[in-house]
Amino acid sequence: MTKLFLIPLLLTAAACSAATLCDSGHKQSPIDITTTTRQKLPPLDFNYRAAPLKLADDGHTVRVRFANGSQLNIGNQRYTLQQFHFHTPGGDRIAGEEFPMAAHLLHKSQSGQLLAVVVLFRVGAENPLLTSLLPLIPAKADGDHTPSGSMINANELLPTSHGYYRYSGSVTAPPCTEGVDWIVMKQPLELSAAQLARYRKRFADNARAVQPLHQRVVLESLNPGL
Ligand SMILES: [Zn+2]
Repeated sequence: MTKLFLIPLLLTAAACSAATLCDSGHKQSPIDITTTTRQKLPPLDFNYRAAPLKLADDGHTVRVRFANGSQLNIGNQRYTLQQFHFHTPGGDRIAGEEFPMAAHLLHKSQSGQLLAVVVLFRVGAENPLLTSLLPLIPAKADGDHTPSGSMINANELLPTSHGYYRYSGSVTAPPCTEGVDWIVMKQPLELSAAQLARYRKRFADNARAVQPLHQRVVLESLNPGL
């Protein structure tokens, strides 16, 4: 008889631990970046390439997927760009400032290490990549779309200055898995008020609230020219 109860108990325990990490993990994302440790950090060597556009409404955001052609090297570690997507508001804050939008560029190393590059946006000039992308968002969440002849280069989502913050964070949706490297670009990009309104009409408020820092140290690059 005992064995009959074992499986339901194990399932309950697994569900509980996932919920607990979102609620009480100590390395969660996003955060408010306030106090930082400034030092020379390895430069971000982006090697992004133009690729056929493959995008989906996944029910929460517009997600653009990449095959293995776009890479990011940091020191001797190589990461491959998997996908990018957008959040509004931006999630990570800098010195208390909330940004209206952020792009999350998700990468993976050969050993499976996840690394997110966060590009924040302020309202200002029209963003060329969003000008191309917003009209192509599928009408509903029905899997990947590959609009014929459309190419995309994630380079267009990078600020000209590559100064950055780095901290140890997490996936921002359940199960909130920790051990994800978070890189927040210091220089925000701009998008127009009309572009922000258009995105928010489809995907309003899809960002997670700021999480406690706990014992983490946020590194800030102090490199010449950044
Ligand atoms: Zn995200």
